[in-house]
Amino acid sequence: MESVIVHYQEIALKGRNRPWFIERLAGALRDATADLDVARVRPLMGRIEVELGSAAEWPAVRERLSRIFGVANFARARSSGREIDEIAGAILRHLDEPGLDVDRVTSFRVRASRADKTYPLTSPQVEREVGGRIKAGTGWRVDLASPDLAIGVEILPDRVFYTLGKEPGQGGLPTATSGAVLCLLSGGIDSPVAAYRLMKRGCRVRFVHFHAYPILSRASLDKTREIADLLTRHQLRSRLYSVRFGEIQQTIVLSAPPPLRVVLYRRMMMRIAERLAGACGAKALVTGEAVGQVASQTIENLAVINDVVTLPVLRPLIGSDKEEITQEARRLGTYPVSIIPDQDCCTLFVPRRPSTRARLEEVERAERNLPVAELVDKALAEVERQEYRFPPQAAAPLVPVPEEGAAG
Ligand code: ATP
Ligand code: MG
Repeated sequence: MESVIVHYQEIALKGRNRPWFIERLAGALRDATADLDVARVRPLMGRIEVELGSAAEWPAVRERLSRIFGVANFARARSSGREIDEIAGAILRHLDEPGLDVDRVTSFRVRASRADKTYPLTSPQVEREVGGRIKAGTGWRVDLASPDLAIGVEILPDRVFYTLGKEPGQGGLPTATSGAVLCLLSGGIDSPVAAYRLMKRGCRVRFVHFHAYPILSRASLDKTREIADLLTRHQLRSRLYSVRFGEIQQTIVLSAPPPLRVVLYRRMMMRIAERLAGACGAKALVTGEAVGQVASQTIENLAVINDVVTLPVLRPLIGSDKEEITQEARRLGTYPVSIIPDQDCCTLFVPRRPSTRARLEEVERAERNLPVAELVDKALAEVERQEYRFPPQAAAPLVPVPEEGAAG
């Protein structure tokens, strides 16, 4: 019988809340593998065992587990008896099985850990004893620093797990251990990365996208949906609010000085986002802004944009270079979608010389010509909401749900 042993790192430090964090992580592992042949997932003395059924395919299991937050690393495992000869014998027999990709292995290392501290041998002794037998049985040499094959031995009170190889995990904290936030998701490169950063810290990230459809094409809407899909592979459940924003922009274009437009758009977005956050229990807003990246992202303008909301505005990329963000988007897999050309609602209506230092008084003066509260209410009344789930087999219908007023 085969298992996967999942190790966590940061949650091991979480004091009295530890069992709660571990249960959240186990729940995420269960959900992520719900459509695979997984017999059970259970916490087991400092690690989590994912017990595989006979039909579970390792590449699929590996892919799922590699995206779950809170996992430091994981490895395929089998169990054996607790005697040294039993452990080494089981490993050697396993290495002989066909289909195991060890033909090119010439070096190995054994690392042991004892969850059962009453075990008669220390961990280094176990490593030496088991390692010696494997060396004798295979002819491989020991390489502690960078072995071809890392073998793990984990000693529990009633049995021993041994693992061959080790996969890196996503790190971070399990989803939904840090509360909910609402991320302004544009379809560009930055905001998906910003959302990912907060997801990694255990936040349930909800998304809101402002679009100018049907004045402009649906491209940004479609891109955002695809990005929401990609990000859902990590947090397993997402919600995307789509807000009609084209008329609001037209209203601003007609009444406000061109240099102030972008800041005015952002303030409208923030107001609407804060109301949606209230309706879905999000405790902060998240954006993909970075200081100085574009005109609306100077310190002065960010302050003027913040001024309309009381919720914290989290900007996890604030000190990052575009190049760093782009690399992260590539790793995350959102980059190819983000660079699909679209008619970003902000590019069409963007003035040639946006103000880099909007003053609060002039912005507020410009807003006096706008029916701000009315525009916000109208946008909220027309919000569409989509729920996302991963694995998709268990998905709720992906049809937009029209909302009346509040969007719960
Ligand atoms: P991004 O790559 O995330 O679009 P950007 O560098 O293009 O960022 P801006 O377009 O000025 O910068 O947007 C700054 C931030 O404002 C975005 O990261 C996003 O959080 C938010 N934002 C901008 N436009 C929209 C939109 N249409 N819908 C939702 N959020 C948006
Ligand atoms: Mg953008």
